[in-house]
Amino acid sequence: MNNKIEHGGIMSENLKYGTISSREAMELEEKYGAHNYHPLPVVLAKGEGVFMWDPEGKRYYDFLSAYSAVNQGHCHPKIIKALCDQAQILTLTSRAFLNNRLGEYEKFITEYFGYDMVLPMNSGAEGVETAMKLARKWAYNVKGVENNGAIIVFAENNFHGRTISIVSASSDPDSYEGFGPFTPGIVRVAYNDPKALKDYLVEHGKNVAAFIVEPIQGEAGVFVPDEGYLKACFDICKEHNVLFVADEIQTGIARTGKLLACDYENVRPDILILGKALSGGVLPVSAVLADREIMLQIKPGEHGSTFGGFPLACAVAKAALEVVRDEKLAEHSFELGKYFRKELRDFHHPMITLVRGRGLLNAIVVKPKDGIEAWDVCMMLKEKGLLCKPTHRHIIRLAPPLVITKEQLVECVQIIKDVFSAL
Ligand SMILES: *Cc1c(COP(=O)(O)O)cnc(C)c1O
Repeated sequence: MNNKIEHGGIMSENLKYGTISSREAMELEEKYGAHNYHPLPVVLAKGEGVFMWDPEGKRYYDFLSAYSAVNQGHCHPKIIKALCDQAQILTLTSRAFLNNRLGEYEKFITEYFGYDMVLPMNSGAEGVETAMKLARKWAYNVKGVENNGAIIVFAENNFHGRTISIVSASSDPDSYEGFGPFTPGIVRVAYNDPKALKDYLVEHGKNVAAFIVEPIQGEAGVFVPDEGYLKACFDICKEHNVLFVADEIQTGIARTGKLLACDYENVRPDILILGKALSGGVLPVSAVLADREIMLQIKPGEHGSTFGGFPLACAVAKAALEVVRDEKLAEHSFELGKYFRKELRDFHHPMITLVRGRGLLNAIVVKPKDGIEAWDVCMMLKEKGLLCKPTHRHIIRLAPPLVITKEQLVECVQIIKDVFSAL
Protein backbone atom coordinates (compact mmCIF):
# COMPACT_ATOMS: atom_id res chain seq x y z
CA MET A 1 0.00 0.00 0.00
CA ASN A 2 1.29 3.44 -0.85
CA ASN A 3 0.49 4.87 2.55
CA LYS A 4 3.14 2.73 4.16
CA ILE A 5 6.42 4.56 4.32
CA GLU A 6 9.81 4.40 5.91
CA HIS A 7 10.18 7.27 8.37
CA GLY A 8 13.09 7.66 10.72
CA GLY A 9 13.54 3.92 10.61
CA ILE A 10 10.01 3.34 11.89
CA MET A 11 7.56 1.58 9.61
CA SER A 12 4.14 3.22 9.55
CA GLU A 13 1.22 0.96 8.89
CA ASN A 14 -2.53 1.21 8.85
CA LEU A 15 -2.55 4.89 8.11
CA LYS A 16 -5.78 6.37 6.86
CA TYR A 17 -4.64 9.98 6.37
CA GLY A 18 -1.16 11.21 5.47
CA THR A 19 2.11 9.37 5.78
CA ILE A 20 3.01 9.98 9.44
CA SER A 21 1.51 8.02 12.32
CA SER A 22 0.31 9.69 15.50
CA ARG A 23 3.27 8.34 17.45
CA GLU A 24 5.77 9.54 14.88
CA ALA A 25 4.18 12.98 14.67
CA MET A 26 4.39 13.33 18.45
CA GLU A 27 8.05 12.30 18.47
CA LEU A 28 8.91 14.76 15.70
CA GLU A 29 7.21 17.70 17.39
CA GLU A 30 8.80 16.83 20.70
CA LYS A 31 12.27 16.63 19.19
CA TYR A 32 12.29 19.44 16.62
CA GLY A 33 9.66 21.93 17.79
CA ALA A 34 9.98 24.55 20.51
CA HIS A 35 8.22 23.45 23.66
CA ASN A 36 5.95 26.49 23.93
CA TYR A 37 2.72 24.44 24.04
CA HIS A 38 1.45 21.51 26.07
CA PRO A 39 -1.00 19.88 23.68
CA LEU A 40 -3.44 17.13 24.44
CA PRO A 41 -1.80 13.99 23.02
CA VAL A 42 -3.81 13.71 19.83
CA VAL A 43 -2.56 14.21 16.27
CA LEU A 44 -4.94 15.52 13.65
CA ALA A 45 -4.66 14.82 9.95
CA LYS A 46 -8.01 15.85 8.50
CA GLY A 47 -10.93 18.14 9.26
CA GLU A 48 -14.40 18.56 7.83
CA GLY A 49 -17.22 20.56 9.40
CA VAL A 50 -17.41 19.70 13.10
CA PHE A 51 -15.13 16.67 12.77
CA MET A 52 -11.41 16.01 12.83
CA TRP A 53 -9.62 12.71 12.25
CA ASP A 54 -6.28 11.39 13.44
CA PRO A 55 -3.89 9.69 10.97
CA GLU A 56 -5.21 6.26 11.95
CA GLY A 57 -8.75 7.35 11.09
CA LYS A 58 -10.31 7.86 14.53
CA ARG A 59 -12.95 10.59 14.31
CA TYR A 60 -13.40 13.35 16.86
CA TYR A 61 -15.88 16.12 17.48
CA ASP A 62 -13.91 19.37 17.63
CA PHE A 63 -14.97 21.25 20.78
CA LEU A 64 -12.23 23.85 20.65
CA SER A 65 -12.54 25.08 17.05
CA ALA A 66 -8.95 26.32 17.16
CA TYR A 67 -9.91 28.78 19.91
CA SER A 68 -12.95 29.88 17.88
CA ALA A 69 -11.08 30.39 14.60
CA VAL A 70 -13.07 27.63 12.92
CA ASN A 71 -16.58 28.93 13.61
CA GLN A 72 -17.60 28.09 10.04
CA GLY A 73 -16.41 24.47 10.41
CA HIS A 74 -13.27 22.81 9.07
CA CYS A 75 -12.56 23.24 5.37
CA HIS A 76 -15.84 24.97 4.60
CA PRO A 77 -16.31 24.35 0.86
CA LYS A 78 -17.21 27.95 0.07
CA ILE A 79 -14.17 29.35 1.88
CA ILE A 80 -11.85 26.73 0.40
CA LYS A 81 -13.19 27.53 -3.07
CA ALA A 82 -12.45 31.24 -2.54
CA LEU A 83 -8.95 30.28 -1.39
CA CYS A 84 -8.22 28.02 -4.33
CA ASP A 85 -9.71 30.36 -6.94
CA GLN A 86 -7.72 33.35 -5.68
CA ALA A 87 -4.54 31.32 -5.12
CA GLN A 88 -4.35 30.64 -8.84
CA ILE A 89 -4.64 34.30 -9.80
CA LEU A 90 -2.80 36.48 -7.30
CA THR A 91 -1.72 35.89 -3.70
CA LEU A 92 0.47 38.76 -2.53
CA THR A 93 1.36 42.20 -3.83
CA SER A 94 2.43 44.02 -0.66
CA ARG A 95 0.85 47.39 -0.04
CA ALA A 96 3.46 49.11 -2.19
CA PHE A 97 0.80 48.69 -4.89
CA LEU A 98 -2.96 48.45 -4.81
CA ASN A 99 -4.70 45.17 -5.54
CA ASN A 100 -8.12 44.47 -6.97
CA ARG A 101 -9.38 42.46 -3.97
CA LEU A 102 -8.55 44.76 -1.07
CA GLY A 103 -10.89 47.69 -1.73
CA GLU A 104 -13.80 45.37 -2.43
CA TYR A 105 -13.13 43.50 0.83
CA GLU A 106 -12.73 46.74 2.79
CA LYS A 107 -16.12 47.98 1.57
CA PHE A 108 -17.66 44.63 2.43
CA ILE A 109 -16.28 44.26 5.95
CA THR A 110 -16.89 47.88 6.98
CA GLU A 111 -20.53 47.68 5.86
CA TYR A 112 -20.84 44.27 7.53
CA PHE A 113 -19.78 45.63 10.94
CA GLY A 114 -20.90 49.24 10.49
CA TYR A 115 -17.63 51.21 10.56
CA ASP A 116 -16.14 53.79 8.20
CA MET A 117 -12.78 52.09 7.71
CA VAL A 118 -10.69 48.99 8.30
CA LEU A 119 -6.97 48.39 8.80
CA PRO A 120 -6.12 44.82 7.77
CA MET A 121 -3.48 42.78 9.63
CA ASN A 122 -2.75 39.07 10.02
CA SER A 123 -2.58 37.67 13.55
CA GLY A 124 -4.82 38.71 16.41
CA ALA A 125 -1.86 40.05 18.38
CA GLU A 126 -1.03 42.35 15.46
CA GLY A 127 -4.61 43.56 15.52
CA VAL A 128 -4.31 44.43 19.21
CA GLU A 129 -0.95 46.15 18.63
CA THR A 130 -2.55 48.12 15.82
CA ALA A 131 -5.40 49.23 18.08
CA MET A 132 -2.88 50.32 20.74
CA LYS A 133 -0.91 52.37 18.21
CA LEU A 134 -4.07 53.88 16.77
CA ALA A 135 -5.29 54.83 20.26
CA ARG A 136 -1.97 56.48 21.12
CA LYS A 137 -1.93 58.50 17.87
CA TRP A 138 -5.49 59.59 18.54
CA ALA A 139 -4.61 60.58 22.10
CA TYR A 140 -1.78 62.85 20.91
CA ASN A 141 -3.40 64.23 17.76
CA VAL A 142 -7.03 64.59 18.82
CA LYS A 143 -7.35 64.40 22.59
CA GLY A 144 -4.23 66.47 23.21
CA VAL A 145 -2.38 64.17 25.60
CA GLU A 146 1.21 65.27 26.15
CA ASN A 147 3.64 63.43 23.87
CA ASN A 148 4.71 60.00 25.23
CA GLY A 149 2.29 60.37 28.12
CA ALA A 150 -0.65 58.30 26.87
CA ILE A 151 -1.95 55.50 29.04
CA ILE A 152 -3.86 52.43 27.88
CA VAL A 153 -6.04 50.70 30.45
CA PHE A 154 -6.59 46.93 30.35
CA ALA A 155 -8.58 44.54 32.55
CA GLU A 156 -7.18 42.04 35.03
CA ASN A 157 -6.92 38.45 33.73
CA ASN A 158 -6.98 39.60 30.13
CA PHE A 159 -5.62 37.70 27.17
CA HIS A 160 -4.78 39.73 24.07
CA GLY A 161 -1.85 37.85 22.55
CA ARG A 162 1.87 37.29 22.99
CA THR A 163 3.90 40.32 21.90
CA ILE A 164 6.04 42.19 24.41
CA SER A 165 3.62 45.13 24.63
CA ILE A 166 0.59 42.88 24.99
CA VAL A 167 2.17 40.72 27.71
CA SER A 168 3.11 44.01 29.40
CA ALA A 169 -0.63 44.25 30.08
CA SER A 170 -0.98 40.69 31.33
CA SER A 171 -1.61 39.65 34.95
CA ASP A 172 -0.72 36.02 34.21
CA PRO A 173 2.89 35.23 35.24
CA ASP A 174 3.08 32.47 32.59
CA SER A 175 2.58 35.19 29.99
CA TYR A 176 4.95 37.88 31.29
CA GLU A 177 7.48 36.32 33.68
CA GLY A 178 10.98 36.51 32.26
CA PHE A 179 9.99 38.65 29.28
CA GLY A 180 10.65 42.10 30.76
CA PRO A 181 11.45 44.96 30.56
CA PHE A 182 7.88 45.84 29.73
CA THR A 183 6.19 48.53 27.68
CA PRO A 184 5.32 51.60 29.77
CA GLY A 185 2.01 53.45 29.64
CA ILE A 186 -0.06 50.38 30.46
CA VAL A 187 -2.21 49.88 33.55
CA ARG A 188 -4.79 47.33 34.66
CA VAL A 189 -8.07 47.66 36.51
CA ALA A 190 -10.31 44.89 37.86
CA TYR A 191 -12.55 43.15 35.28
CA ASN A 192 -16.31 43.15 35.74
CA ASP A 193 -16.01 46.19 37.95
CA PRO A 194 -17.07 49.46 36.27
CA LYS A 195 -16.19 51.36 39.43
CA ALA A 196 -12.55 50.30 39.17
CA LEU A 197 -12.40 51.83 35.70
CA LYS A 198 -14.27 54.90 36.85
CA ASP A 199 -11.98 55.47 39.84
CA TYR A 200 -8.93 55.25 37.62
CA LEU A 201 -10.32 57.60 35.00
CA VAL A 202 -11.49 60.15 37.55
CA GLU A 203 -7.88 60.35 38.72
CA HIS A 204 -5.95 59.92 35.45
CA GLY A 205 -8.53 60.14 32.67
CA LYS A 206 -7.01 63.14 30.94
CA ASN A 207 -3.95 61.05 29.98
CA VAL A 208 -5.82 57.87 29.05
CA ALA A 209 -6.09 57.00 25.37
CA ALA A 210 -8.14 53.82 25.54
CA PHE A 211 -9.70 51.05 27.57
CA ILE A 212 -9.13 47.69 25.86
CA VAL A 213 -11.38 44.85 26.97
CA GLU A 214 -12.67 41.41 26.02
CA PRO A 215 -16.51 41.36 26.19
CA ILE A 216 -16.15 37.83 27.57
CA GLN A 217 -12.72 36.72 28.80
CA GLY A 218 -12.07 33.57 26.79
CA GLU A 219 -8.63 32.44 27.93
CA ALA A 220 -9.43 33.39 31.53
CA GLY A 221 -12.01 30.59 31.37
CA VAL A 222 -15.00 31.99 29.48
CA PHE A 223 -15.61 34.53 32.20
CA VAL A 224 -18.89 36.31 31.41
CA PRO A 225 -19.15 39.73 33.09
CA ASP A 226 -22.36 40.89 34.77
CA GLU A 227 -25.04 42.33 32.53
CA GLY A 228 -24.47 46.02 31.99
CA TYR A 229 -20.71 45.92 32.51
CA LEU A 230 -19.78 46.75 28.92
CA LYS A 231 -22.34 49.54 28.64
CA ALA A 232 -21.24 51.04 31.96
CA CYS A 233 -17.58 50.96 30.88
CA PHE A 234 -18.48 52.46 27.51
CA ASP A 235 -20.35 55.33 29.21
CA ILE A 236 -17.47 55.95 31.64
CA CYS A 237 -15.05 56.07 28.69
CA LYS A 238 -17.27 58.62 26.92
CA GLU A 239 -17.37 60.78 30.04
CA HIS A 240 -13.57 60.96 30.04
CA ASN A 241 -13.02 61.12 26.28
CA VAL A 242 -11.35 57.69 26.30
CA LEU A 243 -11.65 55.23 23.40
CA PHE A 244 -13.56 52.04 24.18
CA VAL A 245 -11.76 49.22 22.36
CA ALA A 246 -13.27 45.73 22.16
CA ASP A 247 -11.05 42.74 21.52
CA GLU A 248 -13.60 40.46 19.84
CA ILE A 249 -10.97 38.18 18.33
CA GLN A 250 -12.45 35.20 20.18
CA THR A 251 -15.97 36.39 20.98
CA GLY A 252 -16.82 38.01 17.64
CA ILE A 253 -18.16 36.63 14.36
CA ALA A 254 -21.19 34.80 15.79
CA ARG A 255 -19.38 32.74 18.43
CA THR A 256 -21.41 34.05 21.37
CA GLY A 257 -24.80 34.00 19.66
CA LYS A 258 -24.70 37.52 18.23
CA LEU A 259 -22.48 38.87 15.48
CA LEU A 260 -20.46 40.57 18.23
CA ALA A 261 -20.57 39.95 21.97
CA CYS A 262 -20.87 43.74 22.45
CA ASP A 263 -24.24 43.52 20.65
CA TYR A 264 -25.74 42.03 23.84
CA GLU A 265 -25.45 45.49 25.42
CA ASN A 266 -25.86 47.55 22.25
CA VAL A 267 -22.37 48.88 22.68
CA ARG A 268 -20.58 50.02 19.53
CA PRO A 269 -16.85 50.06 20.31
CA ASP A 270 -14.81 53.00 19.04
CA ILE A 271 -12.26 50.46 17.84
CA LEU A 272 -13.17 46.84 17.10
CA ILE A 273 -10.52 44.13 16.80
CA LEU A 274 -11.32 40.91 14.91
CA GLY A 275 -9.23 37.87 14.00
CA LYS A 276 -9.51 34.10 14.26
CA ALA A 277 -12.84 33.24 12.53
CA LEU A 278 -12.39 36.14 10.13
CA SER A 279 -10.83 33.58 7.79
CA GLY A 280 -12.78 30.55 9.00
CA GLY A 281 -9.49 29.07 10.18
CA VAL A 282 -7.92 29.13 6.74
CA LEU A 283 -5.31 31.92 6.97
CA PRO A 284 -4.17 34.30 9.71
CA VAL A 285 -6.39 37.31 9.03
CA SER A 286 -7.16 40.09 11.50
CA ALA A 287 -8.80 43.47 11.17
CA VAL A 288 -9.11 46.70 13.12
CA LEU A 289 -12.24 48.71 12.47
CA ALA A 290 -12.90 52.34 13.37
CA ASP A 291 -14.42 55.52 12.02
CA ARG A 292 -12.47 58.06 9.98
CA GLU A 293 -11.68 60.44 12.82
CA ILE A 294 -9.71 57.70 14.56
CA MET A 295 -8.42 55.65 11.63
CA LEU A 296 -7.00 58.57 9.69
CA GLN A 297 -4.65 59.44 12.57
CA ILE A 298 -2.27 56.84 11.14
CA LYS A 299 -0.68 58.28 8.01
CA PRO A 300 1.07 56.57 5.08
CA GLY A 301 4.28 54.90 6.18
CA GLU A 302 3.44 54.90 9.88
CA HIS A 303 2.12 51.35 10.25
CA GLY A 304 1.58 48.22 8.19
CA SER A 305 2.48 44.64 7.43
CA THR A 306 3.82 42.89 4.33
CA PHE A 307 0.91 40.48 4.28
CA GLY A 308 -1.82 42.70 5.77
CA GLY A 309 -4.66 42.96 3.27
CA PHE A 310 -3.16 40.49 0.82
CA PRO A 311 -5.46 39.44 -2.02
CA LEU A 312 -5.68 35.84 -0.84
CA ALA A 313 -6.74 36.94 2.66
CA CYS A 314 -9.30 39.38 1.22
CA ALA A 315 -10.95 36.68 -0.86
CA VAL A 316 -10.98 34.21 2.03
CA ALA A 317 -12.23 36.67 4.66
CA LYS A 318 -15.05 37.89 2.46
CA ALA A 319 -16.18 34.31 1.86
CA ALA A 320 -15.84 33.49 5.58
CA LEU A 321 -18.10 36.42 6.55
CA GLU A 322 -20.61 35.51 3.83
CA VAL A 323 -20.86 32.01 5.29
CA VAL A 324 -21.62 33.42 8.76
CA ARG A 325 -24.38 35.61 7.31
CA ASP A 326 -25.84 33.12 4.79
CA GLU A 327 -25.91 30.20 7.23
CA LYS A 328 -27.27 32.41 10.04
CA LEU A 329 -24.56 31.16 12.38
CA ALA A 330 -25.20 33.83 15.03
CA GLU A 331 -28.86 32.83 15.44
CA HIS A 332 -27.91 29.15 15.35
CA SER A 333 -25.21 29.65 17.98
CA PHE A 334 -27.66 31.57 20.20
CA GLU A 335 -30.28 28.80 20.09
CA LEU A 336 -27.92 25.84 20.48
CA GLY A 337 -26.03 27.60 23.27
CA LYS A 338 -29.21 27.94 25.32
CA TYR A 339 -29.94 24.24 24.87
CA PHE A 340 -26.35 23.23 25.69
CA ARG A 341 -26.15 25.19 28.96
CA LYS A 342 -29.59 24.03 30.06
CA GLU A 343 -28.66 20.37 29.51
CA LEU A 344 -25.40 20.67 31.43
CA ARG A 345 -26.91 22.75 34.24
CA ASP A 346 -29.77 20.29 34.70
CA PHE A 347 -27.21 17.49 34.85
CA HIS A 348 -26.19 17.80 38.47
CA HIS A 349 -22.80 16.30 39.07
CA PRO A 350 -20.56 16.85 42.12
CA MET A 351 -17.54 17.62 39.92
CA ILE A 352 -19.35 20.35 37.96
CA THR A 353 -19.51 23.53 40.01
CA LEU A 354 -20.57 25.91 37.26
CA VAL A 355 -21.60 26.01 33.61
CA ARG A 356 -21.28 29.41 31.97
CA GLY A 357 -21.05 31.03 28.59
CA ARG A 358 -22.92 32.69 25.77
CA GLY A 359 -23.93 31.15 22.48
CA LEU A 360 -21.52 28.32 21.74
CA LEU A 361 -18.67 29.72 23.84
CA ASN A 362 -19.10 27.84 27.10
CA ALA A 363 -17.14 26.42 29.97
CA ILE A 364 -17.55 23.92 32.75
CA VAL A 365 -15.82 24.76 36.00
CA VAL A 366 -14.60 21.49 37.45
CA LYS A 367 -14.01 20.65 41.09
CA PRO A 368 -11.17 18.09 41.28
CA LYS A 369 -12.18 14.76 42.81
CA ASP A 370 -9.78 12.01 43.92
CA GLY A 371 -6.98 13.80 42.05
CA ILE A 372 -8.97 13.93 38.84
CA GLU A 373 -8.68 17.38 37.25
CA ALA A 374 -9.93 19.13 34.12
CA TRP A 375 -7.02 17.69 32.11
CA ASP A 376 -8.07 14.12 33.01
CA VAL A 377 -11.66 14.84 32.02
CA CYS A 378 -10.41 16.14 28.65
CA MET A 379 -8.37 12.95 28.18
CA MET A 380 -11.48 10.87 28.85
CA LEU A 381 -13.53 12.99 26.46
CA LYS A 382 -10.83 12.44 23.85
CA GLU A 383 -11.12 8.66 24.27
CA LYS A 384 -14.86 9.02 23.64
CA GLY A 385 -14.24 11.09 20.51
CA LEU A 386 -14.64 14.68 21.70
CA LEU A 387 -11.71 17.10 21.76
CA CYS A 388 -11.42 20.05 24.11
CA LYS A 389 -8.73 21.64 26.21
CA PRO A 390 -8.62 22.76 29.82
CA THR A 391 -7.76 26.34 30.67
CA HIS A 392 -6.33 27.20 34.12
CA ARG A 393 -6.43 23.59 35.42
CA HIS A 394 -10.05 23.58 36.56
CA ILE A 395 -11.96 25.00 33.59
CA ILE A 396 -12.98 23.15 30.42
CA ARG A 397 -13.87 25.37 27.49
CA LEU A 398 -16.46 23.89 25.14
CA ALA A 399 -16.71 25.62 21.77
CA PRO A 400 -17.70 23.51 18.77
CA PRO A 401 -17.80 24.92 15.23
CA LEU A 402 -21.04 26.89 14.87
CA VAL A 403 -22.17 24.68 11.99
CA ILE A 404 -22.84 21.85 14.47
CA THR A 405 -26.39 20.50 14.09
CA LYS A 406 -28.82 20.01 16.94
CA GLU A 407 -28.57 16.23 16.50
CA GLN A 408 -24.78 16.34 16.71
CA LEU A 409 -24.92 18.54 19.79
CA VAL A 410 -27.36 16.14 21.46
CA GLU A 411 -24.85 13.36 20.85
CA CYS A 412 -22.01 15.47 22.28
CA VAL A 413 -24.00 16.37 25.40
CA GLN A 414 -24.45 12.64 25.94
CA ILE A 415 -20.71 12.01 25.57
CA ILE A 416 -19.97 14.71 28.15
CA LYS A 417 -22.57 13.34 30.57
CA ASP A 418 -21.26 9.78 30.10
CA VAL A 419 -17.71 10.83 30.93
CA PHE A 420 -18.76 12.67 34.11
CA SER A 421 -21.07 9.82 35.10
CA ALA A 422 -18.15 7.41 34.92
CA LEU A 423 -16.21 9.49 37.45
C1 LIG B 1 -6.46 34.49 20.34
C2 LIG B 1 -6.65 35.83 20.88
C3 LIG B 1 -5.75 36.87 20.61
C4 LIG B 1 -4.46 36.67 19.85
O1 LIG B 1 -4.64 36.21 18.55
P1 LIG B 1 -3.41 35.52 17.79
O2 LIG B 1 -3.91 35.33 16.40
O3 LIG B 1 -3.12 34.24 18.51
O4 LIG B 1 -2.27 36.47 17.86
C5 LIG B 1 -6.05 38.14 21.09
N1 LIG B 1 -7.16 38.37 21.81
C6 LIG B 1 -8.04 37.39 22.10
C7 LIG B 1 -9.26 37.72 22.90
C8 LIG B 1 -7.81 36.08 21.66
O5 LIG B 1 -8.67 35.11 22.00
